[in-house]
Amino acid sequence: MADCIFCKIIDGGLPSYKVYEDGKVIAFLDIFPIHSGHVLVVPKKHFVDIFDTPAEELQNIIAAAKKLAPAVMKATKADGINIGMNNRPASGQVVMHTHLHVIPRFKDDGLKTWPQRPYNNDAEKQHVLERIKAAL
Ligand code: 5GP
Ligand code: ZN
Repeated sequence: MADCIFCKIIDGGLPSYKVYEDGKVIAFLDIFPIHSGHVLVVPKKHFVDIFDTPAEELQNIIAAAKKLAPAVMKATKADGINIGMNNRPASGQVVMHTHLHVIPRFKDDGLKTWPQRPYNNDAEKQHVLERIKAAL
């Protein structure tokens, strides 16, 4: 894809700090890390997000993340790892080329997860459950 930053990194047209590569996947340091050692895992073929990425390509990036997570843990002396994927701008996706974030986390790093809430009632829970199952 001509206008895609990650395609340019994959082609070598833009520089990156590459930490891993195989036939299908590349992984490099995020330019604006949450913490040092924050890695992006990217399929070499251009897909936009989880919706258009074939299951096999998603398997390739999660398999690479499985290799990278313990390496990032060890290298950064992290206490935990977040694996994340944003899909569509409403979720926070900025680069429209499928990618996983591998993010080292530390006990007292002060970062919060998303705010959560209980369901308002059983009807709300049942309603959304039925809608998801019907959509599968
Ligand atoms: P998203 O919000 O789309 O899930 O995450 C995109 C990530 O790509 C961001 O964390 C951002 O810092 C990173 N990023 C954006 N442009 C570049 C770039 O040119 N090089 C690298 N290495 N990372 C980038
Ligand atoms: Zn791309």
